[in-house]
Amino acid sequence: MAKGNRNNNNNRNRNRRGDFSGNYTKRNTETVKDCTYKEGITVKELAEKIGKSPAEIIKFLFMMGQMVTINASLDDETIQLIAMQYGIEITKEESEEENSLEDTEEDDPKDLEPRAPIVTIMGHVDHGKTTLLDNIRKTHVTASEFGGITQHIGAYQVEVKGQKVTFLDTPGHEAFTAMRARGAKMTDIVVIVVAADDGVMPQTKEAIDHSRAAGVPMIVAVNKIDKHNANVDKVYSEMADYDLMPEEWGGSTMFTKLSAKSGLGISDLLEMILLQAEMMELKANPNKKATGTVVEAKLDKGRGPVATLLVQNGTLHTGDMIVAGTAIGRIRKMTDDKGMEIKSAKPSTPVEIIGLDSVPEAGDHFKAFENEKLARKIADERNKQKIESERRTTAAMSLDDLTEQIKEGNVQEVNIIIKADVNGSAEAVKSSMEKVNVDGVKVNVIRATAGAISESDIMLANASNAIIYGFNVRPSAAIKKAAEENGVSIRLHNIIYKALEELEALMKGMLAPVYEEVVTGQATVKQTYKVSKVGTIAGCMVDDGVIKRNSGVRLIRDGVVIYTGVVGSLQRFKDSVREVNAGYECGLTIERFNDIKEGDIIEAYENQEVKED
Ligand code: GDP
Repeated sequence: MAKGNRNNNNNRNRNRRGDFSGNYTKRNTETVKDCTYKEGITVKELAEKIGKSPAEIIKFLFMMGQMVTINASLDDETIQLIAMQYGIEITKEESEEENSLEDTEEDDPKDLEPRAPIVTIMGHVDHGKTTLLDNIRKTHVTASEFGGITQHIGAYQVEVKGQKVTFLDTPGHEAFTAMRARGAKMTDIVVIVVAADDGVMPQTKEAIDHSRAAGVPMIVAVNKIDKHNANVDKVYSEMADYDLMPEEWGGSTMFTKLSAKSGLGISDLLEMILLQAEMMELKANPNKKATGTVVEAKLDKGRGPVATLLVQNGTLHTGDMIVAGTAIGRIRKMTDDKGMEIKSAKPSTPVEIIGLDSVPEAGDHFKAFENEKLARKIADERNKQKIESERRTTAAMSLDDLTEQIKEGNVQEVNIIIKADVNGSAEAVKSSMEKVNVDGVKVNVIRATAGAISESDIMLANASNAIIYGFNVRPSAAIKKAAEENGVSIRLHNIIYKALEELEALMKGMLAPVYEEVVTGQATVKQTYKVSKVGTIAGCMVDDGVIKRNSGVRLIRDGVVIYTGVVGSLQRFKDSVREVNAGYECGLTIERFNDIKEGDIIEAYENQEVKED
């Protein structure tokens, strides 16, 4: 979201706040005229602008039947509704600064036409996702397209009974979650593939969690039914345990049995997809400039930046001026998933294009523009914004933010991921946590499984603003780092009631994370070397624990702390390393400090959040 903008606006908004708080009267017409907003304004921003609390606006919208979060963007109609409620006149700024690439224009219902569903296939490794994608593609290209060169561009479209279905060709939930974390909403339906000879496995569950968190309907494809040891009933019952009850068993989830390898049952799956799509009444407006998402992009030696775009609304034409992420350019050539050159692409069509000046990222939005000058301006603005946001640490909602939000009454639900040493305890923690309800704020456990905290947990937490609770598990250094980078909070506990107490405190908005210093290791300086440009390198023996690069460090001489700083470089022989354990020699420098002597003690420490065990 437009973080840069928000900051720029803050001061102005604050000045205005007084104008609108309390007793607004019609006489204030001057100020009223001045009250404008930009496309994509969030609840929080609007609240500041009109001098109301975000909670008040959220509550008002709730009463009007709209559930929104504090960071949700509001559409024009809703903004006018809010303005009316408070007797404020507010107008939209036809701003030159508007630089969102999202499709924010309201479409007239009479312009809408049905569009193909966009499908992602997920499931456990080796359960047959790739085989299924390949087989669908091989067997369902229309007769006229036979002979066309099929090429993998990250997505493809097939025709079933005269209707089109678009498949995203990167199986697995990593791509899905990564895109979702970047705000891309590309999938209408998820097909969960489960091998009948293997049953529900960890990644099956993860795929279900991800689809649920994204609110995308699922169809379960029970694969490999050709195998002699296929056990469909077992899959059904395992899925039922996971709250996906087959229609055959009186539930409401669509299940289908197939063999991705032989092709048996694939047409049933496709029909089910069409059925699901029909229920969803997926529509788009082909009669305007295109908007959509970048599926993948690369730099091709001969052709320059090449991007696969998925048109989600409007129609994309060759020659169109587009901005994709921070890249800009005129589409020189457009090809479809069969390698055929095309001149235009309607909603739900994946196309490969060339003509961009740089390589956008998967998950970036793109938009086509009538006006080249405007496109350039927007691309410029977005580039600046990107640089600015890279400087800040972009992160999911931190614990502090969350606590603040809860205090202000803007959060109705706290998302939690539970990882425990054994499945039983994950379940036990889940059921206790779900009972926690503080002043109407509820706990929503989006995943509870046994095992170490994984990269995928971090991704899910990031995408869903969730907190990770670990029970008798300890995250690895890599995971800790990933969590830090993504602004994901990990809480570690051994005792359930302690965790519950903490969660309650957090939900009452009272929890402030406490940091404490933990000494990680100690080393003795054996020798020193002076190297020009680098400074003094200390040749050390690690006596205890571990010394890590970038960790805090104290230089102790005769029991007195001489200097406190940060480990600069850390080396084993000629190689730069991240950490060195007890019993090994290493060379290290201390940032901005050279007065190291033989016999000095180096103590490394880290600031860790206090765990309440
Ligand atoms: P992915 O990791 O989920 O993409 O799985 P793959 O599509 O690579 O399939 C893994 C293995 O299972 C491959 O050796 C496939 O040939 C095999 N396989 C996939 N579908 C079927 C099926 O329906 N029947 C049988 N017997 N084997 C299958």
